[in-house]
Amino acid sequence: MFRLKNIPIKQKLMIIIMVTTASALLLSGVGIVAFDSLLFRQSLERDLSTLAQIIADNSTAALAFNDPQSASETLAALRARPHLVDACVYRTDGTALASYTRPGARSACPAAEARDALRFTSRGLLVSRAILLSGRRIGTLVLLYDLGEISERMKLYGATVVAVLLVSSLIALLLSSMLRAVIATPISQLVRATTSVSETGDYSVRAQRLSGDELGVLVDRFNGMLAGIQSRESSLRRALRDREEALQDAKKAHERFRFMAESMPQKIFTATPGGEGDYFNRQWIEYTGMTLEQIKDEGWTQYLHPDDLDTTVESWRRSIETGEPFHAQQRVRRVDGVYRWHLCRARAMRDAQGNISLWIGSNTEIHEQKEKEEELRQANEDLQQFAYSASHDLQEPIRNVAVYSEIISKRYYNVLDSDGRQFLGFLTEGGRRLATLIDDLLTYTRAGVIEGDLTAVDSSAVLQHALSSLAEAIRENDASVAYDALPQVCMGESHLQQVFQNLIGNALKYRREDPPQIYISAVHLGATWRFSVRDNGIGIDPHYKEVIFGVFKRLHRDQKYSGTGIGLAICQRVVERYGGRIWVESSPGEGATFFFTVPEHAPRVQSATA
Ligand code: ADP
Repeated sequence: MFRLKNIPIKQKLMIIIMVTTASALLLSGVGIVAFDSLLFRQSLERDLSTLAQIIADNSTAALAFNDPQSASETLAALRARPHLVDACVYRTDGTALASYTRPGARSACPAAEARDALRFTSRGLLVSRAILLSGRRIGTLVLLYDLGEISERMKLYGATVVAVLLVSSLIALLLSSMLRAVIATPISQLVRATTSVSETGDYSVRAQRLSGDELGVLVDRFNGMLAGIQSRESSLRRALRDREEALQDAKKAHERFRFMAESMPQKIFTATPGGEGDYFNRQWIEYTGMTLEQIKDEGWTQYLHPDDLDTTVESWRRSIETGEPFHAQQRVRRVDGVYRWHLCRARAMRDAQGNISLWIGSNTEIHEQKEKEEELRQANEDLQQFAYSASHDLQEPIRNVAVYSEIISKRYYNVLDSDGRQFLGFLTEGGRRLATLIDDLLTYTRAGVIEGDLTAVDSSAVLQHALSSLAEAIRENDASVAYDALPQVCMGESHLQQVFQNLIGNALKYRREDPPQIYISAVHLGATWRFSVRDNGIGIDPHYKEVIFGVFKRLHRDQKYSGTGIGLAICQRVVERYGGRIWVESSPGEGATFFFTVPEHAPRVQSATA
């Protein structure tokens, strides 16, 4: 059976057909022979019984007259039946009256039986019949018939069955070799296609559909399956190629980054989204004199100056939490133990989903710049101190000029001729203007000073104060001032009031013929508030929108617009002191809008004294 499993389907089909055909024929042949032999036996029994009856009837007279001659003649007629072996007529006492034995056969007539019988014995079919005369038994007829006829028939039938079997097997063999192609060819096709696919890996191979039966459906399904695999395989190949290309790109980008980072003069580093430094370039290693592993293991904060540690770490932690750019100035320890100022900046790199995948940062040495800045700051402070003292010291003589001009004007007005009065007028006006200038200069020097700790102030309230100070001017100019609800901000109250006052003052001053309309509002942008002061005045040529913030820079020098050119410079100084920005948007004749930003939370500014 195992061997049968492994032989080709063609041979399998042939064997199945042959075995089935032969078994069917053999079984039917054996059945026919067996049935025929049964029928034959029955007919033989009937035939012999009739024959025995006829012979018994014909032997009645011979037996009644005890005439052996006549009885023998009657029995001699049995020669016509070549398979009848023995026939005997017995008297009632058991002695034989006459007998017949087939020529050539050994005589052995079976003994008479008391009753009629018909049975098969080892020698053949035995028939015993009573010979009756007027209903009385006068003797017995015994016939013995051999079974040669049955075996002859059996042999004949057997030979016929074998012949039929051989002929039909031959025909079945011929037919099967023609018909098996119907099943075997599509299967062989499928096998060929499958083998080719598995050997070459080429999924474009297709099996040919040769029939519309289940094998045809199987071929269709197989081809469909191949098509599915082919398309999946090609998309898989494409995806693999894309991935490989992406990997190559990423590798190239990585190499480019490494190359760039290593060739830059700055100390470059990268950190994980959680803030752990995972790469430090050669400059870091050379500067600190440590190995990459030491820097990674012990952490970069170990090189920071103890005084800068807390603020830097806190700012780094905040950036890690919020994802906002990191920016700090810190002193970093060199290999020789000297601390040098660095500007550290880091930005988060995000993936397609917007999640932080990496922090990339740089440390630029700004030690010289910092030293120069310090020198400059010192010089600036000295200059401010000088300006402050000078302005302060000048106040007194200027006030004297004003006071004495006033006295002269009161006491000696009538004494002076017209020229004298005009000169006195110039003197008074000059003194007044000088006093204003000195005041503005003092304010300007104070504008850069933040005193004490900053707390949140209500900018609405501050605006109210500014408007009260300008109430007179507002009324005189018949101006209307509108404003939104304004936020709480972290800025010195007097500074904010100064900015409002200067901007609204200018809006009133640089008006057109129509009554001034001023509108103040604030919007929240990230961590800052952006205030705006809009007017409908004469406007500013955009060309000068930066110049006007310089000290003594004025666009209108005619009598119509008085001023010192310091107001906007003060505003800029104040706003920038708090980390904000101020600018203007305007076109000539179309009014101007001044914007300035104020951080929502207290900026890290150091108090300074001028
Ligand atoms: P000042 O007003 O004392 O001249 P500022 O520093 O306040 O000095 O202003 C500088 C210049 O900017 C002004 O001379 C004026 O030409 C221009 N300017 C300021 N505010 C406005 C405004 N709202 N509309 C038009 N021009 C303005």
